[in-house]
Amino acid sequence: MTPRSSDAAPPSAAPPVVAGAKGAADRAALAAARDELAVFPAWPESGRLEVIPTTACPFRCRYCGVRLDDRQAPREVLERAVDLLLTATSERLELQFFGGEPLLRQREVLATMARGARLAAARGKRLSFVITTSGLLIDDELLAALQGFDAKVMFSSDGPGDVLTRYRPLAKPGTDPTATLEHNLQRLVRSGVDTFVNLVVTPDGAHDIERRVRHLVGLGARTIQICYALAPGWTDEAQAAHCDGLRACAELANRRDGPAFRFQNLGSAAEPTVLSNELIVDVDGTLYDDIALFGEALLPGLRPVLRLGHVAALTAFDGLRPSWE
Ligand code: SF4
Repeated sequence: MTPRSSDAAPPSAAPPVVAGAKGAADRAALAAARDELAVFPAWPESGRLEVIPTTACPFRCRYCGVRLDDRQAPREVLERAVDLLLTATSERLELQFFGGEPLLRQREVLATMARGARLAAARGKRLSFVITTSGLLIDDELLAALQGFDAKVMFSSDGPGDVLTRYRPLAKPGTDPTATLEHNLQRLVRSGVDTFVNLVVTPDGAHDIERRVRHLVGLGARTIQICYALAPGWTDEAQAAHCDGLRACAELANRRDGPAFRFQNLGSAAEPTVLSNELIVDVDGTLYDDIALFGEALLPGLRPVLRLGHVAALTAFDGLRPSWE
């Protein structure tokens, strides 16, 4: 899943060393950029933690940056992740399941949620959950179980069948899953479980955003967020097309006579914004800044740089999130 953090402010970074006349111009441009970034507040403690129950997934999305295979998090890793999050001083906490496809381990996900909710209540904290899913494995048992939790589902879908075929192929060729995915989105919405659709845009698809959003709204999606794929190819033209698409969706969401949906990107301080800046626990219990795993296919060298420790050894959640300042 390609994540985004809609309320995150962009990071600042130390200017690189540059030389000569061009270097002076670059330094001036970087100084100006830093001044612009200064209007954003520093990243606060989020009280959020992401965990990966498995790196297996039935899809092979073209833009996926996760190293997919069949690794699974032992139950102890999921429990220690919850224990670490519960050390946070914040009273409102959130645990998000990423993957891979977390619902390949539905039983373990639900057991982790039940234990976490119980421990949080005992400490006077509110722990909510987000399950990220490709949507293929949603079933009645899950829908019934989620009624008992403070939980929402992040349903990944990029639009109509032609888009899914192009960008979200199955790992093993088989029957076109579009009808199943659309049916599952509709019954998820009907079930009353808090749901939002996460739509990923690649540079070559940036011209087509509004059509995709209209299709998802037609299926019943009531909250949609758009994020850009972490990928090469974001030319000036592609970036402009992406911004035009965001603008068109914002206008669509604000129209009184338009389709009724909430465009989640409208809550951001700026768009397009930083994809994500959260902490994530890998299947082996190692804690990272999440871009180390979500961007691993593109930037494999980030893992050692963004490793923050192991859940078995960490004793406090507060202060773990890098500030980049
Ligand atoms: S659904 Fe797609 S983006 Fe998400 S983990 Fe699977 S292959 Fe990656």
